[in-house]
Amino acid sequence: MNSKDIKEYGLNIGYSKVGITSADGFPEYVEKVLARGDKFDILNYTTTNPVLGAMPKKFMPEAKSVIVLILDYFQNDYPEELKKMIGKAYMARCYGPQPGMLAHSRLQLMKDYLANNGCTVDSGIGIPARWAAAQAGVATFGKNNFAFSDDAGSYVIIHTIVVDKELDYDQPTMVSKCPPKCELCMNACPTQAITAPFELDPKRCIAFHNWMTQDGRDSISSFIPYEFREPIGCKIHGCDICQDVCPLNHKKLKAPKSVDRYIEQIAADITLPSILNMTDEFYANRIKPIMYNYIKDKRYFMRNAAIAMGNSKDKAFVKDLAIALTNPDEMIREYAAWALGKIGGMESRQVLESNYAKESSDNVKQAIHQALAEF
Ligand code: SF4
Ligand code: SF4
Repeated sequence: MNSKDIKEYGLNIGYSKVGITSADGFPEYVEKVLARGDKFDILNYTTTNPVLGAMPKKFMPEAKSVIVLILDYFQNDYPEELKKMIGKAYMARCYGPQPGMLAHSRLQLMKDYLANNGCTVDSGIGIPARWAAAQAGVATFGKNNFAFSDDAGSYVIIHTIVVDKELDYDQPTMVSKCPPKCELCMNACPTQAITAPFELDPKRCIAFHNWMTQDGRDSISSFIPYEFREPIGCKIHGCDICQDVCPLNHKKLKAPKSVDRYIEQIAADITLPSILNMTDEFYANRIKPIMYNYIKDKRYFMRNAAIAMGNSKDKAFVKDLAIALTNPDEMIREYAAWALGKIGGMESRQVLESNYAKESSDNVKQAIHQALAEF
């Protein structure tokens, strides 16, 4: 088995590109991340810290090569209503794939192929995937901080596998293909999270507020600062805005696609009211099969749905938010109150006033008080 065989096998099982780079490490990446200081302390809350992963020999002393696999996840399309709320990468069910999923099996096939051909294999979890992809010549960086891979644009999932075999390394593609004057992604970002070309303030990104804001972490909690709640809009799990506006993605966006039959089948069930007041069964059957990777408790999806409803200003949601205002979870009540304040109107006001008297939590009372002040 040589480098050509590995690449052909990867293409054979459905990856759109396969590149190979050395496992000597990515010190330049580490330097750049560490230079960002506390902007990137969120890495402490991930199970796969890419600063540690940037030195493969630390977790696999015999490491020689990193095989980088590009998966084009936007070959099927999804209903427009869902695309407004959920990142396409999640609907594709291949980001951090779990056992039992097609993307997991594909990756396992690749690992088995390498192992059956005499390699010691490490899953490469924690390797800075985008950086490795550029080093392996299968992606370039965009100013929006995504990796772009030719016709697939930035709608790619990158998997890495570390092996103990010396292979032929590809020519790096570290030079961006962004037109020098283009700043469309930076201007489109609702939270100004792209602070400079190729620089993200992760704590401003909607994705961070969707899923990193969970309780039980030192410096992060479930509280989403007020300044970010409106810019979040209707996003409940991920944001594609800075990718969808990008001219480098136009070709991919316009390319004819099949419909994803599974997502089509369940789409009608996935609405903001059904998420806001979801049951455990709904969580297991409608949320977890798609959004399984970051949020570990249904309450955070419910909170996100409340924010999306408030931002919609749609009075049809008042009855659902009135139910949420009786939820035993104080956090859900607090966000439901916020949303009713944003929606406004007589009915919202009545719901807030009638619940204020019954409310036992000072935090929620405060939220209701603030919501009523919006009228
Ligand atoms: S994903 Fe959304 S919030 Fe994050 S940088 Fe891109 S446009 Fe901004
Ligand atoms: S929108 Fe423009 S600057 Fe941003 S990633 Fe795309 S090409 Fe680059």
